[in-house]
Amino acid sequence: HAPEALLRVRDMVSAYGRIKALKGIALEINRGETVALIGANGAGKTTFLRTLSGVQPMAAGTVAFDGEDISRLRADQRVARGICQCPEGRMVFGPLSIEDNIRLGAYTRKDAEIGDDIEKVYAMFPILKQKRHLPAGSLSGGQQQMLAMGRALMGRPKLLLLDEPSMGLAPLLVEEIFNVIRTLKSQGMTILLVEQNAFGALGVADRAYVLETGHVTLSGSGAELAENPDVRAAYLGM
Ligand code: ATP
Repeated sequence: HAPEALLRVRDMVSAYGRIKALKGIALEINRGETVALIGANGAGKTTFLRTLSGVQPMAAGTVAFDGEDISRLRADQRVARGICQCPEGRMVFGPLSIEDNIRLGAYTRKDAEIGDDIEKVYAMFPILKQKRHLPAGSLSGGQQQMLAMGRALMGRPKLLLLDEPSMGLAPLLVEEIFNVIRTLKSQGMTILLVEQNAFGALGVADRAYVLETGHVTLSGSGAELAENPDVRAAYLGM
């Protein structure tokens, strides 16, 4: 039979007071897959990530991860299971050094391999190594995004959640961030990529879901959706 998905979300409902932002979402991510969630402003992408990571209460539905029902777990328990979020707007600690910011990503770990993992982050982002003693606030937006991704990787995620990693970046840096995602993917990382940049996201994703006002309205391979006339009109400006 088919291998069990790493993440399986069923009928997820999430609300702000009486306003339902998610109206019954079903979504699956298999091990090693990069899955994109695209949609316009206000579609519910951020709410989905917040509900999945456990910081926003789920009104109904189930979340199974790595063979376990985690629907009722707190956010920190989900992090401990390997669901690590790289938040929108980077959220780096500006006054702390770049290296300390990276180290913070390992705060739940006590093992001896933290130093090795920092070196792996530096291998992926050499600019961070060059600047490791400088305050994170001195980095450009693109470099802060790299730092936020490096910090998330220090948690040794089984599922890496990326919230709008290309937001606010110049085109060359956007390309660089999508290349980083390709590299992570080639290393076997499982990734959920939430993006308003549908063009970039569909280019890197194995599969994608389109979210509209709290519903999944379309899903398919990245290539399929990039060819879909509705997607092209609504999200690719074609
Ligand atoms: P964006 O790309 O702008 O972040 P999004 O797709 O992530 O958009 P959400 O931020 O998840 O969308 O918002 C989904 C819906 O929930 C929207 O209608 C929004 O107005 C509403 N919403 C979001 N946050 C709150 C809140 N704190 N209180 C009330 N309604 C909210």
